[in-house]
Amino acid sequence: MDFLRPARWEDALAAKAEHPSAVPIAGGTDVMVELNFDQRRPAQLLDLNRIPELYEWDTGEEEVALGACVPYTRIIEHLRRELPGLALAAHTVGSPQIRNRGSVGGNLGAASPAGDSHPPLLTAGAEVEAESVRGSRRIPVEEFFTGVKRNALADDELIKRVHIRKASGPQQFSKIGTRNAMVIAVCGFSVALRPESRRVRAAVGSAGPTPFRATAAEDFLGAALEEAGLWESGGPVPASVAKEFAGLCSAACSPIDDVRGSAAYRRHAVGVMARRTLGWAWEEYRSGGDGAGAGTDDSAGGSRCA
Ligand SMILES: Cc1cc2nc3c(=O)[nH]c(=O)nc-3n(C[C@H](O)[C@H](O)[C@H](O)COP(=O)(O)OP(=O)(O)OC[C@H]3O[C@@H](n4cnc5c(N)ncnc54)[C@H](O)[C@@H]3O)c2cc1C
Repeated sequence: MDFLRPARWEDALAAKAEHPSAVPIAGGTDVMVELNFDQRRPAQLLDLNRIPELYEWDTGEEEVALGACVPYTRIIEHLRRELPGLALAAHTVGSPQIRNRGSVGGNLGAASPAGDSHPPLLTAGAEVEAESVRGSRRIPVEEFFTGVKRNALADDELIKRVHIRKASGPQQFSKIGTRNAMVIAVCGFSVALRPESRRVRAAVGSAGPTPFRATAAEDFLGAALEEAGLWESGGPVPASVAKEFAGLCSAACSPIDDVRGSAAYRRHAVGVMARRTLGWAWEEYRSGGDGAGAGTDDSAGGSRCA
């Protein structure tokens, strides 16, 4: 196996053009597992670790341009204000060692339905900047996931950055796993409130072949909050509204039975997480605080990583 180690981004693109089957390696927390278990034996590994700009981020007026290799630890330390949903999700990834190495670019490259960064990227609004020697393009994250562990990158493309809209309101994330650390999500859920446009975004992980937005639930909740004047009054979300939102999120799922959980459990769990995260986010909106408590008038409460 050849180990390609470009020090410049342009050289990485040239190497990928020359060797389209080369496997990029960032933190290696997915790639090395596959190599160790002999699930992959590529002719070339394309190491991205020497390319400085992949480890940088820019915070602009509207968005954060996050280098593909920025590790989760840095997101937690430096971007929790701009990207609270992603920072919460980053907290739940693996262990400190995995968070020190693993990246959002790698999570997108792997495109697992259970990738923890995916729901908050969907709710925040993100675009994946893909580049090749042919040029650059921005792929809306909704269009990035094309199937189980498949994404929209062409063979000669690499992820350079992810452009993520800065939070304009509370964002929350929740994940169900068999224990509270080092666990792949049985399912995950993220919600983002956008007070300025009176909109809500909701996204689900690991309850379908790809992560997805629950758009019917988003539309329902946005309209219900608007009709009841709750954005202005800051009143509690009625239990019936939270229940309907949760039901629509569950209904949007197309899960499978597997070793981690049954389809029925996943559907149920997504509904529970939808109601809880809405409660946390709405409480944060009402109080201007950290949103750690329950917020709908029947909220079940609970931990962010169960
Ligand atoms: C013990 C353990 C626990 C884990 N726990 C979690 C968890 O809780 N939640 C979770 O979501 N994941 C988890 N993972 C999986 C993994 O850590 C994440 O998917 C992580 O985000 C991968 O990032 P990386 O930088 O290590 O990617 P790598 O392993 O380097 O790459 C992953 C994939 O992306 C491709 N790739 C990497 N960079 C680019 C790029 N710039 N352009 C194009 N393709 C690229 C690679 O070729 C590969 O296919 C765990 C893994 C381990 C080993």
